[in-house]
Amino acid sequence: MRTEFKNEAFVNFKEERNHELYEQALKKAEAELGKEYPLIIGGERIATDRTAVSINPANHSQVIGIVSQADTNLAEKAIQVAAATFETWKHTDPNARARYLYRAAAILRRRKHEFSAIMTFEAGKTRVEADVETAEAIDFLEFYAREMQRLSLPQPLTASAEEENELYYIPLGVGVVIPPWNFPLAIMAGMTAAAIVTGNTVVLKPASTTPVIAAKFMALLEEVGLPAGVVNFLPGPGGEVGDYLVDHPLTRFISFTGSRDVGLRINERAAKTNPGQKWIKRVVAEMGGKDAIVVDSEADLDLAADMITLSAFGFSGQKCSACSRAIIHEDVYDTVLERVVERAGQLKMMNPADADANLGPVIDEKAYNKILEYIEIGKKEGRLVLGGSTGDPNGYFIEPTIFADVDADARISQEEIFGPVVAFTKAASFDEALQFANGTDYGLTGAVISRNGANLEKARREFHVGNLYFNRKCTGALVGTHPFGGFNMSGTDSKAGGRDYLLLFTQGKLVCDRF
Ligand code: NAD
Repeated sequence: MRTEFKNEAFVNFKEERNHELYEQALKKAEAELGKEYPLIIGGERIATDRTAVSINPANHSQVIGIVSQADTNLAEKAIQVAAATFETWKHTDPNARARYLYRAAAILRRRKHEFSAIMTFEAGKTRVEADVETAEAIDFLEFYAREMQRLSLPQPLTASAEEENELYYIPLGVGVVIPPWNFPLAIMAGMTAAAIVTGNTVVLKPASTTPVIAAKFMALLEEVGLPAGVVNFLPGPGGEVGDYLVDHPLTRFISFTGSRDVGLRINERAAKTNPGQKWIKRVVAEMGGKDAIVVDSEADLDLAADMITLSAFGFSGQKCSACSRAIIHEDVYDTVLERVVERAGQLKMMNPADADANLGPVIDEKAYNKILEYIEIGKKEGRLVLGGSTGDPNGYFIEPTIFADVDADARISQEEIFGPVVAFTKAASFDEALQFANGTDYGLTGAVISRNGANLEKARREFHVGNLYFNRKCTGALVGTHPFGGFNMSGTDSKAGGRDYLLLFTQGKLVCDRF
């Protein structure tokens, strides 16, 4: 029997020893930079002529890895191998499937800095952000393994005198897993682990900017002896390979996390039945956010300023849960704004490999240009009170940026920027603040900072987001503790890290045996 699930503890970076260990891991990761990474289909390594270069967003000239790129022929091969492997993997004892995850979690725990260090180089994560992410990856493996064991137990049914009834959660088939780059280890590992532990086989197309950490995870799965073909590693251009995988008649489900546009495209394409297809494809799509922190007139204003600063600028605002709107009651608006500006102004934007860094770069040139465009839009829609400029030109650095006096329906209040930019909006009452908070197409996370119990109860009922937090930040969901997923255009509310999640990758089979 396994012990009960517990969240992995974060590394304490106040202890110098942990910095030393991290620095050793950075050195080790640095020594491996520039390596080539092949596709892996059915255990076979396939190097292609076409490659993509993964670079360090904090230093463009540093190559993290050179990664083979699939085309549609190799995507076809991956699907065929996954379909053939499904015939055996689906019969593997669920406890055995869970054990692969437990083994992977144990190794990841022992070598956590090694994985975190790669994310510092490839995704621009500070030590703390990278460590929290590796801990989350461990949590997903540990949590889903236990969940599969729970689902494989006899399920409670109404008793019948002359029959024996059993309900089994059986797998679906071949799944296409398409993760984002912003949690390139945790979300990618969680989506993959959930799909395989339930007995499905997977074609994993990692995000284009973070394929090396995904390759490292693939190597971990091989190290624990996961049978070849259960996960097929298929880096490649999202549009070309993604469409092919999504459209394929042997694809049974698509597990996607990423932007709203791509999620909706996948959902629409998956709804079309193609020749040879025998099922309705299932789509699990977790998409963007435009998350708000509401500050009430009766509130701890230092707490409010701390939580807005952390939620808006952690990982440069590149979290689906990041606070991009601060909606403040007019009585406390000026004070909260001033305190956030003061705190954000002290954040140290520098190479995330540096121990002192609070803020690294944004992920790539496309994101950099998009965020800077939004900053120009913001200058017309509000008052720039902090930041707005770039940093070290060798990387994609953008300062923490705050716009004040922005209308709730302005573009920077409505569109996902996915960078270190937050818009402050003044509300005349708590009701108006809630109305503003609910006034976007999204519904992922939100927070309310208030000491007024009645207002918190109102927010509990009316603030329409998948993850609602009171008197804390709106980022930082923990597996098992805060099942995560949003409403409306934020996705299918599939609650990753929750007890319902694995059911999305299974179908219930009832067997009734009448004696
Ligand atoms: P993205 O949509 O650009 O890319 C996501 C993945 O889709 C990548 O692997 C990409 O290569 C692939 N892709 C691109 N075109 C495709 C196509 N036509 N068919 C299939 N796959 C295709 O998103 P991103 O920039 O990687 O991630 C950031 C976005 O993810 C933000 O919108 C963020 O809010 C969202 N996100 C949501 C959650 C959540 O849980 N709701 C979590 C993390 C990130």
